[in-house]
Amino acid sequence: GGGVSSCATCDGHMFMGRDVIIVGGGDTAMEDALVLARTSRRVTVVHRRDRFRASKVLAERVMEHPSIDIMWNSTVQRIKGKKLEDPSAKKSAGRNDDDDDDIDLDDESSSSGDDAKRVVSGAIIRDVATGEETHFPCEAVFVAIGHTPATSFLRGVVDFQDDHPGYVRTVGKTTRTSARGIFAAGDVSDPSYRQAITSAGAGAAAALDAERYLSEEGLGNEAAEFEAELLAELMAEENDAKASLGGEEYNAYD
Ligand SMILES: Cc1cc2nc3c(=O)[nH]c(=O)nc-3n(C[C@H](O)[C@H](O)[C@H](O)COP(=O)(O)OP(=O)(O)OC[C@H]3O[C@@H](n4cnc5c(N)ncnc54)[C@H](O)[C@@H]3O)c2cc1C
Repeated sequence: GGGVSSCATCDGHMFMGRDVIIVGGGDTAMEDALVLARTSRRVTVVHRRDRFRASKVLAERVMEHPSIDIMWNSTVQRIKGKKLEDPSAKKSAGRNDDDDDDIDLDDESSSSGDDAKRVVSGAIIRDVATGEETHFPCEAVFVAIGHTPATSFLRGVVDFQDDHPGYVRTVGKTTRTSARGIFAAGDVSDPSYRQAITSAGAGAAAALDAERYLSEEGLGNEAAEFEAELLAELMAEENDAKASLGGEEYNAYD
């Protein structure tokens, strides 16, 4: 809620009518810029090159949008912020909402020692050609420089998606992967939605797929099989005991 986010669809609504920055030049950055432009006052896309890597259609929609500005050949060097103090403390100290404590939000020492909430107040933008740095006032910075799923440990085990490196490929609408008995659900296999609810749904699908797989393999009912075997063993022991008593009444609880 402080204004640094990697999810425009999740957090964009918190900056309705405010000025925000998007960092990136790919499809994600373009989509996020268009989402934010619906609610934010001005959206500024900060991109380190002089052209977007995004698809032509998306890039054109961004470049033609009346609420979106573009800072080419630029990078965000630092995110600046201010502390939001208790309103009563502010009043007594004669402060107002525009007071800018000018803290670096990425400097961990800026958060030590008090519980005050920190919010974005701007960003230091660097011109990559000249090296010149300027302060750009804004209330949120959305980082859209791509996602890399932590799936390197699956290299050589499952297949990955051709268009989205690192994302596990699943078979059709199932969560099955190229490796039998391995299922993928959530962000690791979904470059499109990456939402909590879609991931949870995929998790439920993976559980069902895994259960079906176990039952197809005849491995699904091990507990029931174990119980049946145990019961048969106990009954056999009881019968042996009866036989050894030569017909005398046998009570297992004696
Ligand atoms: C800042 C932020 C804000 C967001 N806000 C929203 C929102 O408001 N609404 C929304 O719907 N979505 C939101 N999302 C997206 C949402 O969090 C994800 O889509 C969702 O958490 C994905 O769920 P998942 O189970 O696939 O992965 P994760 O939640 O990332 O869980 C993966 C788990 O696997 C563990 N793990 C990784 N590698 C290994 C390994 N080798 N062995 C064992 N465990 C491992 C990780 O530690 C982690 O616990 C947000 C995401 C971010 C980053």
